[in-house]
Amino acid sequence: MDADAIVVGAGLAGLVATAELAAAKKRVILLEQEPEASLGGQAFWSFGGLFMVDTPEQRRLGVRDSRDLTLRDWLAYAGFDRDEDAWPRKWAEAYVDFAAGEMRSWLHRLGMRWFPLVQWAERAGNTVPRFHITWGTGPGVIAPFVRSLRRFEASGAVSVQHRHRVTSLIVTAGTVDGVVGEILAPSSAARGEKSAREVIGEFRLRAPAVVVTSGGIGGDHDLVRRYWPERLGTPPAKMLSGVPDHVDGRMLEVARSAGARFINADRMWNYPEGVENYAPIWSRHGIRILPGPTPLWLDGRGGRLPAPIFPGFDALAALEYIARSGHDHSWFVMDSKVFGRELALSGSEQNPDLTGKSVLGVVRRAMPRAVKPVERFGERGRDFVFAPNIRELAAKMNGLAGADEIDAAALEREIAALDEQAASSAPSDAQLAAIREARRYLSDRLIRVARPHRMLDPKAGPLVAVRLWILTRKTLGGLETDLEGRALGGDGRPIPGLFAAGEVAGFGGGGVHGYRSLEGTFLGGCIFSGRVAGRAAASLAA
Ligand SMILES: Cc1cc2nc3c(=O)[nH]c(=O)nc-3n(C[C@H](O)[C@H](O)[C@H](O)COP(=O)(O)OP(=O)(O)OC[C@H]3O[C@@H](n4cnc5c(N)ncnc54)[C@H](O)[C@@H]3O)c2cc1C
Repeated sequence: MDADAIVVGAGLAGLVATAELAAAKKRVILLEQEPEASLGGQAFWSFGGLFMVDTPEQRRLGVRDSRDLTLRDWLAYAGFDRDEDAWPRKWAEAYVDFAAGEMRSWLHRLGMRWFPLVQWAERAGNTVPRFHITWGTGPGVIAPFVRSLRRFEASGAVSVQHRHRVTSLIVTAGTVDGVVGEILAPSSAARGEKSAREVIGEFRLRAPAVVVTSGGIGGDHDLVRRYWPERLGTPPAKMLSGVPDHVDGRMLEVARSAGARFINADRMWNYPEGVENYAPIWSRHGIRILPGPTPLWLDGRGGRLPAPIFPGFDALAALEYIARSGHDHSWFVMDSKVFGRELALSGSEQNPDLTGKSVLGVVRRAMPRAVKPVERFGERGRDFVFAPNIRELAAKMNGLAGADEIDAAALEREIAALDEQAASSAPSDAQLAAIREARRYLSDRLIRVARPHRMLDPKAGPLVAVRLWILTRKTLGGLETDLEGRALGGDGRPIPGLFAAGEVAGFGGGGVHGYRSLEGTFLGGCIFSGRVAGRAAASLAA
C-alpha cells in the first residue's frame, strides 16, 4: 500500500479529513487536480458564513436560539419527502447537534473568530439569525486546516500531490482500495483560474481507505441543466457561474462507476441574484448579491415578484418564480441610499474589510455610503444602471435588456404606491412590514436594512436598477453516506474502503439540506462531514 488513506480533492472537506487522518497518525496522500495556488477550493472564495447555534455572539445580540428550535427550522425548510432522505435526515440531526454543541468551541480552539454581528442570510427558514461571518472570511475558514496540512507535510505524514486528477477507483473483491488517474501538465494558473487539462502521465495508488471530497457540479452548466428539476421551470439559457471551473462534478460519475449511489441529483442551491463580474477569474464568473429586504424585485417584464418573495428571504422560491417567468433575468430597483446600505456581495475578495480583518473598514459599514467593492460594481459592472428619474431608468433598463419590456408608467405607479406605504407606521404592504420587522434586530438596523423612506425622495437619488442572472452555486444532492461518512452502494450497504464528505456527499448523507438550506450550512457541512469521514477512515486504516 502507498498510504493508509487517499483523499481526493483539497477543498475544505478534503483538508479537514486529511487533518483528522494525520492527527490519528495515518499516512495520507492528498490528491488535487488543480495547481497549488488553488489549495482550499471554493471555501477560499467564500464569505465564510458559518451556521452555528446558541453562540455567545447570538446571545450578546439578544438572540435566543436552541438545538430544538434549530432542528425544527431545519426539518421544516428541508422538506424531506423521499425514501432517499433517510440518511440525509439523520445527518441533518447530527449536524444540528454539532452546530449547537462543540462546533464553535472546537473551531475557536483552532483559531477561528467571528464578526460579532450575526446575520440573516436566508430569512424565510430561520426563526433567528444564525449566519456567523468568520473573521477573515473564506481564507480564515481554511487557515487552521492549511496550517495543520503544512505541519503534517513537514513531518512526512501527508503528501500533497497537485495536478493529479483521479479518473477511476480501484475495486478489489468489492472493496475500494486505490485510485487511478492522470497527471496534468504543470500550470501557472492563479487561484481560481481555469487550468489546462493536458495529460502528461498516469498514476495508480493503493490505500485501504479512499475519501472522496471532490465538490459539486456547479461549474458545469450542462450537468446543472441535465439535473435541473421540472419543479423549477425551464433551466435558463444564460446562467452565471458562482463557482470555479474545477467544480466539475466528474468524480460523482467516477464514484458511481465503483458502485456508489448518487442521490437527490435534482436538488440544487443556485441563486437568482447574480451579476456579471467585471473582472472575471473563472468562466462566466458571477457574483451573488446578498441583498437587504428593501429593493423592489421585478421580473423581466417589470412585474413585481409576489409576496413573500422579497430580496434575501427565500432563494429557491424566487428562483422558481423567475425561471417560470419566461426570462433569464430579473431586476432590483432601488434608490442610492438603499444601494449603499443593503447590497452586499458574497465572496472573500468582495469583502476586503472582513477578509483583511480591518476593524476600521468594518465599522465603515455602518456609514451611509456603499462599501467600496459594491460601489465599484456600480461603476464598472454591466448589470447596473443609474438615472435621476423613472422614465430614464426604464429607458436604460430596456436598453440593457435589448427589449422594450419595462413600462415606465407602470413602474412609476408601482414605486408611487410603495412610497405611500413607506411613510406609514403600519404599512399594509407585506414587504414594508417585513422591513420594519427586520429593523427591530440591532445587527440589521446597524448595517443591513435602510430606514424606510420614499424611493423618489430626491435626497435618496439617483435611482438604481440591477439586472440579476441566475447563478450556479451549490449541489445539494450527492453520494449517499451513512453517519460515518461511508459511501453506500445500490443495496444500501457501505462499500468497504470508500468514504465521501463535503459537497460531493450533499454535505452529508447525500443531501443534508433536503430541498433548501438555512445558509452557512455548506462550509459547516464540509467541516462536519470532513471530520466524520476522516475519523472513520482513520479507524478503518488502523
Ligand atoms: C463565492 C462563494 C461564496 C460562498 N459562501 C459561503 C458561505 O458564506 N457559507 C457557506 O456555508 N458556504 C459558502 N459557499 C459554499 C462553500 O464554499 C462550498 O460548498 C464548499 O467550500 C465546498 O467544499 P468542498 O471541499 O466540498 O469542495 P471544493 O471546494 O469544490 O473542493 C473540491 C476539490 O476537489 C478537487 N477535485 C475535483 N475532482 C477531482 C478529481 N477527479 N481528482 C482530483 N481532485 C479533484 C477540486 O479541484 C477541488 O479543489 C460559498 C461558495 C462560493 C464559491
